[in-house]
Parts: sequence; C-alpha cells; structure tokens
Amino acid sequence: MLPQLEIAKRVCRVCLGKRLELLSSLSGFPRGAQYFLPDLSNVDADKSVSLEVVQCIDCGLVQLTNAPVDYYQDVITAAALSPKSKDQLKQEWQPIITKHSLQGKPAIEIGSGTGDFLEVLKHLGLVAIGLEHSQTNVHSGQAKSLNVQKGYLLDNQPLGKFALVVCNNYLEHQPQTGTFLKTLASLLEDDGILYLSVPNLEYLLRKSCLYEFVADHLVYFTRDTLRLACEISGLVVIDQYQKNNDNDLVLIAAKRKPLCLTDSIKIVDEISRSLKQCVVRAKEAGKTIAVWGAGHRALALMAISDLIEIDFIVDSATFKQGNFTPLLRKRIVSPAELIKNGCDLLIVMLPGNFAKHIETFIVDNNLSCEVIFFEDKKLTV
Ligand SMILES: [Zn+2]
Repeated sequence: MLPQLEIAKRVCRVCLGKRLELLSSLSGFPRGAQYFLPDLSNVDADKSVSLEVVQCIDCGLVQLTNAPVDYYQDVITAAALSPKSKDQLKQEWQPIITKHSLQGKPAIEIGSGTGDFLEVLKHLGLVAIGLEHSQTNVHSGQAKSLNVQKGYLLDNQPLGKFALVVCNNYLEHQPQTGTFLKTLASLLEDDGILYLSVPNLEYLLRKSCLYEFVADHLVYFTRDTLRLACEISGLVVIDQYQKNNDNDLVLIAAKRKPLCLTDSIKIVDEISRSLKQCVVRAKEAGKTIAVWGAGHRALALMAISDLIEIDFIVDSATFKQGNFTPLLRKRIVSPAELIKNGCDLLIVMLPGNFAKHIETFIVDNNLSCEVIFFEDKKLTV
C-alpha cells in the first residue's frame, strides 16, 4: 500500500477530491521545460526538482503536486506549423466543421499561441478569435491579421459565446484544471461544441518514458479520466480519438442540457384535474369515496389534486392503519374495515401487480362498489 499524501493540503485539480495517492517521486528533473541558462554566471540557481506523481482515488486523474511554472499562462511553441501539418489539421477539421455545421460561425481558441491554428480555422471558414497571454504571441498573431486578444481565461474578461471553443494542448498546464474546464464550457453557445486536445498518458506509459513527466504539465489524462473530467464539468462527450501517432487525445463535447419537465408537468396537471373532477362528481351524487393506497405517490397525488372529498384511505400496511394522511388528513383503515363498512366508489392507487391483487380481493369479498384503477397516467374503470 502506497502512502497517502497529507489530506487538506492538496486536492485533486479536477474533482477537488482529497484522496491523492502517491505513485512515485521522480527526482533529478529540471525545474521546467523552458528554464534555459542564458550564460553560466548564475548556475547556483539551476537546481533540480522532484516531481511528485499522484493519482486521485476519486476520479483517477494522474497529476503532479508542484506549483505551476511561472510562464504557465503563455503558450510556448517551438516552431511554426509546417504546410504539411496545416494540411493534416484541415483534413482532421473539415469533417468536424461539416458535422456540426460550424461554417461561418464564431469560434475561439483559448491559448492561441502565435496563431497558427487560428489561421487554419479562418481558412476553413470560421470567424475565429484567439485568447493568448503572451504579448509576443499576441503581436505575432496580429501581424498575420488574426483577431487575437491578450488575456488569460480565468481572469474573467468578457469574451462572449461561441459555436466552437478550441483548446489545443494547453489544459495540461493549468493548475485549476477543473475550473478551467468549466470556464471553457461556459463559453459555448447552447448548441456549441468544445474541442480539446491533451497529451496522452497511455502513450507515455506504453513507452515507459517517465522522463516525459515535466513540471510544466500538471495533469496527465487517459481517455477515461479526460472523459470523466469533462462529464463532471457540465459536458456531454460526443467523440474521442487519438492523433499525432497516439501522442495526443482529442475530445469533442457539448454542454449538458438540463432535463425538461414541461411535458410531465402538463400530464400531472391533467391527471389532477380529472381525478378532482371524478371525486367531485361522486361526492355530488352522495357517494362515499375511498382510495386504496397510502404509498408516497398516492399521498402526493391526492394532496396536489386536493381530493378533500375522499372519505377514507385503505392500506394493508398495519403500521399505517389508524393514522391520518398528511395534508388531507384522511383516516387510514384496514382492508377488513373496508369489507365491513363498504363504500360507493373505490379508487385504487397502487402500482402494477398490487392493483391486480386488489381486483382479486374485491371479487373474493363481493365488494359491490364502483372501482376505478389509477395507473401512472390514466384512470381505468
Ligand atoms: Zn479527482
């Protein structure tokens, strides 16, 4: 059993779970990928670090515990995309644009670097803007006549809503990974889609190249943990695949839509109305009315339908007998009492098989009352 890290100090970067298990402490690593020494006058500051690799027990995410490198908000790109790479991107993207009808629609790339990918989006007919923290990168993008704003996603500058939100290999640098994902989702129009790419932990493990861990990358996703991270951030995953010879994972998602209860509400209103009408008519005809069933559904339905005209309730659960129902305050009696006193109208409010038993009970005991069975959505005589 590996030791668990001290709780409270550290929480999962995505789900905020507090149970992080130490997988390994990798010592002797550079402080980050971009800490080059301009000369050898200050080598004392050039210290190695240990990377503590932990896994969240709750969501499974593998992550590092170190603070982010001081340039984590900037996108560092070694070289411009080659024409071949741009062609590959166009091939990857054309079907996505067609499938989701994105042509001519607004798009944003979060962490747009020098604007290479924005150029591809623009070429494919999207109205694309970029958000980039590095001033040098912003200038590079603007020099290519691209619409690039300087900023960082979590600084809350108003950006608007987009049909497409793209985040290319930038999420793994973000210390508040879960908050970052939720904020990406908040930029989506109702039918918008999010495109994420991140390095593939499974590839790293397959090649056993633990030297791929780097202080710059704070989270390491597998196909499953990336999916879960998105799902707990208000997204529904539409597609997942690997690219760049399996080095990267891609995930395409949309915002989760809230359930719509409008139709159910209409049906319940209709049921309540017809139940009320039924008991009012019976009462006006001078009938005694009983309901069979003091389960939670029957109690709620009687109450919301305001069936005050009911005389008593029948239920075979002995612990309910002798009590009164909440809100309508009708006395609950035993089936034996029903046989003894009878009634003119019996409304059976029991689910499925239980209702069948009552049917048999009525026949066996020669009850002469009118019987109405209430089943989920309708009344049956
Ligand atoms: Zn977690």
